Amino acid sequence: MDTESFRREARRVADWVADYLRDVELFPVLSPAEPGVVRAALPSQPPPSGEPLDAVLRDLEELLLPATTHWQSPGFMAYFASSGSGPGILGETLAAGLNVNAMLWRTAPAATELEQVTLDWLRQMVGLPEPLFGVINDTASSSTLYALAAAREAQTDLRIRELGMAGRPDLPRLRYYASAEAHSSVEKAGIVLGVGRDGLRRIPVDDRFRMDPVALRRAIREDIAAGIRPFAVVATAGTTSTTSVDPVAAIAGICEQHGLWLHVDAAYGGAAAVAPELRWVLDGAERADSIVLNPHKWLFTPIDCSVLWTRRPEMLRSAFSIVPEYLASNQGTDDDAPNLMDYGTSLGRRMRALKLWMVIRHFGTDGLAARIREHCAMASTVAQWVEHASDFELLAPAPLSVVCLRAHPRGLDDPGTLDTLNQRIVERINTGGRYFLSHTRLRDAYAIRVAFGNVRQEQRHARGVIDALRHSMDDDVG
Ligand SMILES: *Cc1c(COP(=O)(O)O)cnc(C)c1O
Repeated sequence: MDTESFRREARRVADWVADYLRDVELFPVLSPAEPGVVRAALPSQPPPSGEPLDAVLRDLEELLLPATTHWQSPGFMAYFASSGSGPGILGETLAAGLNVNAMLWRTAPAATELEQVTLDWLRQMVGLPEPLFGVINDTASSSTLYALAAAREAQTDLRIRELGMAGRPDLPRLRYYASAEAHSSVEKAGIVLGVGRDGLRRIPVDDRFRMDPVALRRAIREDIAAGIRPFAVVATAGTTSTTSVDPVAAIAGICEQHGLWLHVDAAYGGAAAVAPELRWVLDGAERADSIVLNPHKWLFTPIDCSVLWTRRPEMLRSAFSIVPEYLASNQGTDDDAPNLMDYGTSLGRRMRALKLWMVIRHFGTDGLAARIREHCAMASTVAQWVEHASDFELLAPAPLSVVCLRAHPRGLDDPGTLDTLNQRIVERINTGGRYFLSHTRLRDAYAIRVAFGNVRQEQRHARGVIDALRHSMDDDVG
């Protein structure tokens, strides 16, 4: 693609994206596609000779768009928001243009140092104290895996890095702890690290879905008495079902007492701390050994961008650093010129800091805080409506931008009937195309989740989803 064709095609693509974002509310948020339609519509073999961009864009519009679920749409209120803002999309484009690979400081000095600077800005924005070393990974699942690998490595006497774990009768069983509401990625990390699903002990939660620190302390003592070696605790600031925030300060005290690595999973909730009045979500996280926060969730940065901070970068390095000869000559040594390949399993890494840096520079701290505040206000609008509606109820507190609720008409108390009623309400809304909602189970009841956090959402979308819930319920009951 020569310079002039690239210039021309790039303009067309930019126009295409601008139009898409302008019109995104016209598409059904949840794609109605059936499994296999895209595969059936596309040629099963690659083109023998090159094709023009026209043909590709036509397929994008005719074949791919109808099978796209529109995360960029303000009607997307399922799971957690993950919306790419204009400056984030431009940052992604520029990063692809430069296409550096930040394995070593030497292979990408600007990308490496920009990552350090941007993550130090973000640290200040959420009110965490220095020193905190940060790296950007693809997802929170990777960040948590790496943090727990460092926690396992911190049990230095076990020499797991050198000797592995299999076939070693000298090893104690290892255990780490997280609440019953912690994310599945916490459990997955245990599978990868060889401690097994049994290596994770789930701690019960209180009536607001927060980890019970008394139960945590008891579990750790029981395990030690049984000859098991505790090595880490994962506290969650913003759980996946209800956005509950564990009592991190109390958990930190227990970790300090027992010498356990504390990892705080703030993948979604950490962003709230950009608004000064919501900074409490990270209370106690200043005592953590590591923290994960995903700018690709609630900070308007296109996926993927997950920040892992640690107060003990040397432990991450001892878990992961291997320097083969072909990379050795360009070794940076000090913390000002880190080699980012040393902090996880990937050697190659994209310049992910650029899009985050551009998002922060575009909105400014105040602009980001204002949007986060608005999203919480939208959740309050929905929560207040639920509290005043005689036939709906809240199923959990809504401290941030997510509301868990269900329809509960008077006199209809059978659990199974309520579950199917609420399931039908969600299905009807999702097939309607304007909104996409997801669900969870709370105390064994089906709960509708309404999640705000999309950069294009306004109060009218909160009022709109309230109307949709009301109508869907009325249509059902007749
Ligand atoms: C979304 C989320 C994750 C997983 O994030 P990925 O980046 O998709 O791996 C983990 N923990 C919490 C609390 C989350 O909200």
